[in-house]
Amino acid sequence: MSSASGGLVTAMDPVLRRRRGTWTGWVGAPNAGQDELSRALGSTPARPPYSLQAVPLSATEEDLFYRGFANEVLWPLFHGFSDRWSSEPRYWEAYRTVNRRFARSLASTVSWDDLIWVHDYHLMLTGKELRALGLNHRLAFFLHIPFPALEHLEEMPWSGELVKALCHFDLLGFQTNGSRSNFLDAARHFVSDAFTEGSGDEHPIFQGRTIRTGAFPISIDAAAFSADTHGSLVTAMEREIRAEMGDRTLILGVDRLDYSKGIPEKLRGFDLALERHPELRGSVLLKQLVVPSRDQIPAYKETKGEIEASVRRINERWGTQAWQPVEYLYDSWSRSELLAHYRTADVALITPLNDGMNLVAKEYAVANQGSGVIILSAFAGAAQELGTDALLVDPCEPGSVAMAIFQAFQMSPRERKERMERARTTVRTHDVHRWVEGFLAEAICAG
Ligand code: UDP
Repeated sequence: MSSASGGLVTAMDPVLRRRRGTWTGWVGAPNAGQDELSRALGSTPARPPYSLQAVPLSATEEDLFYRGFANEVLWPLFHGFSDRWSSEPRYWEAYRTVNRRFARSLASTVSWDDLIWVHDYHLMLTGKELRALGLNHRLAFFLHIPFPALEHLEEMPWSGELVKALCHFDLLGFQTNGSRSNFLDAARHFVSDAFTEGSGDEHPIFQGRTIRTGAFPISIDAAAFSADTHGSLVTAMEREIRAEMGDRTLILGVDRLDYSKGIPEKLRGFDLALERHPELRGSVLLKQLVVPSRDQIPAYKETKGEIEASVRRINERWGTQAWQPVEYLYDSWSRSELLAHYRTADVALITPLNDGMNLVAKEYAVANQGSGVIILSAFAGAAQELGTDALLVDPCEPGSVAMAIFQAFQMSPRERKERMERARTTVRTHDVHRWVEGFLAEAICAG
């Protein structure tokens, strides 16, 4: 966790405030300890909302465990980028060491009846480590990114150990049924003795415990999001953006810098839309925010270069003195700026090649109170819930993206409004509080 504004913090903070627990975590900087974690989570010594337990990591561990195994091995492999992951053995060793350290830290704070809820791909070995320390607690795990198909997992020498380690949790939560089913395939392959006759296909039994699995699509705090869009700062910014846009259609892209987000593919689709549909020229603007991320990793630098070259090409090809088709920003926005853009944008163009969920899609659905159109990759987890109201695309097919852009441009106000209202209702009724409650209810039954 590198900032207190991410989805995980938004989701977990109210739960811990209400239920009183301990948050064990690393703040995202070398040697950061208790003070840094408190600051990141807005805790004050006078009134701590819940207790915090920092797990400091050295600069070398940050490099090998976080940048290395988590983000250069697991991230590409789990997103299906077989050609991008690194087989550096030192990364794996650091991953094991840090996971063991997290488990020890957790073990030193838990009470006998605590539920331990572990989040994400950085900490997949902690269940096994906790059991090795003799803990008999209910252990639950949620994976925020996709779980890959067996053919991808089999490429990595440590997959068997990872999958077996996951089997020490009582509950494993995934974003989608597809990920859940990929996990069960992997467990059947790597931990075949968990699938005995009595266990059935869906409920493996590992070392005497039944492993429950489920799909729990994460969401946003829709009510808070919606309330914040009415702030006076947001309204003022919205007016400014609208005035700059004039009559043009604003197509918005908001993505972290990441090759999984499909930004070059999005630009290819936009370029083709301009080529095929002359009506769009001079009438649309693609405003693309790319939020800096992991830019020490070579693959991220390459993606940034590719995006920038593509923006230049498109602007040179189609731009005029009065109009540049793409406005590219490598920056991050304040919440007010982000909300003002969500409110103003006529179209949100979201084209990841693979994404656990994609919260931007859900945020746009709630914040855009006009009649925006969501163009969404079929390979984002959010497509499971928003698929009928968004225009679904295959980002690898520029023709599919171009067609959706033109369809959005031409869509009647009535159809836009109806689609958007349904999308908004979906997100409001499946918000982050429901996600937490659903997961915890299942976790409490487990074990
Ligand atoms: N976001 C942000 N700063 C910005 C723009 C966006 O913090 O300048 C947030 C955005 O509100 C969303 C998150 O970044 O909550 C991106 O989440 P998503 O699930 O779309 O992708 P991720 O980055 O987690 O892969």
